[in-house]
Order: sequence, then structure tokens, then C-alpha cells
Amino acid sequence: MDVDLDELIARVRTHRGGAVDESIPALASADPDLLGVTLVGVDGVASSGGDADVLFSVQSAVKPFLFALALADTDGDALDRVGIEPTGEAFDAVKLESGTGRPPNPMVNAGAILTAALVHGGSADERSERILRGLSAFAGRPLSVDEEVAEDEHLLGDRNHALAHLMRSEGTLAISADDAVAAYARACAVLVDAEALAVMGATLAAGGRNPVTGDLVVSPAVARDVVSVMATCGVYDGSGRWMRSVGVPAKSSVSGAVVLAAPGVLGAAVISPPLDERGTSVRGHMAADLLSAELGLHSFGA
Ligand code: GLN
Repeated sequence: MDVDLDELIARVRTHRGGAVDESIPALASADPDLLGVTLVGVDGVASSGGDADVLFSVQSAVKPFLFALALADTDGDALDRVGIEPTGEAFDAVKLESGTGRPPNPMVNAGAILTAALVHGGSADERSERILRGLSAFAGRPLSVDEEVAEDEHLLGDRNHALAHLMRSEGTLAISADDAVAAYARACAVLVDAEALAVMGATLAAGGRNPVTGDLVVSPAVARDVVSVMATCGVYDGSGRWMRSVGVPAKSSVSGAVVLAAPGVLGAAVISPPLDERGTSVRGHMAADLLSAELGLHSFGA
């Protein structure tokens, strides 16, 4: 991968703007100058620049992987339970698909609360354990949960509780609303660094096989479904703009992480906490633009 990440980081660093998320204390106190990038080819070769080994909570960048685990655990039935259409609305919009009562797609909060609930587990603890094991398989190393973040997400996520109750009332969420929000909150609180998140993206880009460990984490069909929905819904109400400029399926998150999956080529992750008004990392978007241009990653032409 012919790109000078130090130079790219120096260019991105000059770009100011955006504000860190303030929904929970751990995010509000994030270092706005944190900036790290990792690329992992589908051959498993990695390169990193900047603060690529600093841990942060994965937040919504976990959503593609929750969708993948739900698809794998339900043998694809998750596709009947959650829509796959972009909403053009904010990530936490309190709205379900009209007619079906399903969440609109797995990349917004309603959908991710549902996909977390679809992961198998006899109890809330078992489900969360299974999610953590699955995410670790994607990352190729054991991941852990930031317990304080998990608790704050659970306690302060009023809109997420509202969404879970709404899905209960529609009959689309089978487990208790509280268990579903707890599973989702714990998943958002999993700690990763850019290196781990890039391997997770690379696993999707490589058709479900982790290119570092060689393990088949999910089937190629599941990986394809997940990357397709990242392409249309991964950046919420900024998905159209993202696809036009970067042209690579991706998922944004309020911690300022962006994970990218360019099928057959590479996975990548950028971390930089200041966000634009749609919850996308400002520098993350810029770094992705530069990477796409320098490596010719745009899906629809140079
Ligand atoms: N934990 C956050 C929430 O549910 C995740 C949102 C995000 O990263 N966009 O509010």
C-alpha cells in the first residue's frame, strides 16, 4: 500500500473544526488532538501512523459487526427483522419503518439495538460474552469492555431505551427492552484502537476471513451483506456525501472513529474525536478522502 501515512497525518492535522461528543463523560473528555490511522490489506499486511495504538470505545463503529454476528447467529433471518434502507436522518432518530415496525437499518441505533438482541445467548451476560468473543474474532485479539462507559451508555441512553420500548410495542424486539439496551451499550463500550478496528474492517473486506489470524469469522455472504449496508447507511444522513467523495463503504461513530472496508483490497480505521453535525469525524472524513484518492479506492472510478 503505497501511501505515506505520516505525511497524510500531517496534512489532516492542519484541518480544524468539529466538536467532541458530550453524551457521556468519557467521550466529552476525549483528546481532540488524538489522530491515528491504520490500513490492513486483505493479505494481512498492516501499516499505521499517529496514535494508532491508543484505546477508545468503539461506539457506533461496532454496528456493522453486530449486524454480522446477528446474521450469522440467525442464519440470515436477521434480514427479515431489520430493514436495509437509508433513513436520511440522525443516528438516534426515534422512528421505525412504517408498516412493518422494524428498525430502518442496522447502522442506526434502533437497528443496532435489535441486532445486538438477535445475537444468541440464554441470558444477558451470555449474549454480551458472545458479542465480545465475536468482536474479538473480527479484531484478531481479545478485546475488553470499558465498564464505566457501558454503565453510562446504559444509564444515559434515554433515546435508546425509548427505541427499545417502541420495538417491543411493535413486536419486533423479542427480549426485554432493558436487556437489549444493555447488550448494545456494552457493545458500544468495547475498547479498540485504530489497529484493531482496521483488522475488523479488513475481515469484512476479505469476505469474512480475518487476514491476520486466518480464521473464518463470518461467511462471505454475511460479509457482503454487511458491506453493502455500510455503503448505503453507514454514515447516517451523510452516507450520500461520503459515498460520493470517499467511495468506500464505512461506518462512523461518536468516538470519532471511522472504519472502512474496501472489498478485496483493505480495511482501514481512523480515530480523531471532533465530529461534524452528522456525527462523523471531521479529520476522519478528510483522511478517508485522501486515502481513497491516493490508493484509488473509490468504488465508482478514479
Ligand atoms: N453509544 C452511542 C449511542 O447510542 C453510539 C452512537 C454513535 O456512535 N453514533 O448514542
